[in-house]
Amino acid sequence: MIPQCNPKAGYLEHKQEIDNMIARVLDSGWYILGKEVEAFEDEFAAWLGVKHAVGVANGTDAIELALRAAGIGIGDHVATVSHTAVATVSAIRRCGSIPVFVDIEPDYFVMDADSLEAVFSMDSSIKAVVVVHLYGQMANMPRILDFARIHDLVVIEDCAQAHGAALNGRKAGTWGDFGCFSFYPTKNLGALGDGGAVVSNDSNMAGKLCALRQYGWDDGRISQIDGVNSRLDELQAAVLRVRLKFLDEDNKARRRISAVYRSGLEAISELKLPTERENSEHVYHQFVMRLSNRNDLIDKLAQEGIRCAVHYLHPVHLHPAFGYKVSVPVSLIQTEIAVSEIISLPMFPELTDKDASQVVTVINRNVNL
Ligand SMILES: *Cc1c(COP(=O)(O)O)cnc(C)c1O
Repeated sequence: MIPQCNPKAGYLEHKQEIDNMIARVLDSGWYILGKEVEAFEDEFAAWLGVKHAVGVANGTDAIELALRAAGIGIGDHVATVSHTAVATVSAIRRCGSIPVFVDIEPDYFVMDADSLEAVFSMDSSIKAVVVVHLYGQMANMPRILDFARIHDLVVIEDCAQAHGAALNGRKAGTWGDFGCFSFYPTKNLGALGDGGAVVSNDSNMAGKLCALRQYGWDDGRISQIDGVNSRLDELQAAVLRVRLKFLDEDNKARRRISAVYRSGLEAISELKLPTERENSEHVYHQFVMRLSNRNDLIDKLAQEGIRCAVHYLHPVHLHPAFGYKVSVPVSLIQTEIAVSEIISLPMFPELTDKDASQVVTVINRNVNL
């Protein structure tokens, strides 16, 4: 069996070192917001090239707290994409804000700057943009940022699938006002449980995030602002410190696997393989290709023990929960076409070339028979 993802393999790869770190934390008797969290925050910020990182409980909270730190709240309009994890939109809703959906670039599956301009021309009350760097590839940040600066929009990057992705040599999360990361076990940088972080170059905002994640407390444990409980724990931070050391190597492995897929599949005209943006570094959180009859292929691969996935089956604006709480001012035609055609092949750093070649062989045997 070849799984679509395999978080346990990432643990086993560095089991001894992770186990030692966990034992150290257990022995210390200090389990929430301590030395490991502080060390991880410093190491992660340095790795990204940003001033501050603030550990939080998960990636959804990271987006919510970034929005709240920026002063976005009840009734405010926030532009984002519908082709994303539901989490992006849940975070906006948790602030009491209204998500306003923007269509995607069909080649890259991320926010289309032209569509953002069209949406804004119909709804100039938009105050913030949550840009999602989906599947490991960055959106067109230069254009989106130029537009956002003109209209004074807060820019939040959802980097939950883009640890290490870069454009023009600059990493995801370092472009906007805030970068939000998830360390869910299957992400490019994964903990052994939930975790997340917000990064920023703004020291005031970093301080506000530290307060927001813990009841709005100041140093004297007086709640100065309306906060929540969203802390990163010491065990997860210790695990993340080990895994961060191997993140570049892991991303390289993902790129190597994607090259095996690409060379083995590029001759099949029915498939549209992922396109890499010029001057960008794609970190292949997922290898997502398009195929008009993808459900048949998914079934055939499953019969041969190869698990694929669809990220995501339904655009967020069509989930029953969101119907009347979101705004859809423009056609989301590229989003709706994409969700009917996409298929995510097995992708995790420990996937062997042999298994990746097996995936290629079985696809070649089954496409369009
Ligand atoms: C995983 C993910 C999130 C949410 O992260 P959690 O840690 O699961 O809360 C947000 N956005 C995107 C695009 C994701 O893939």
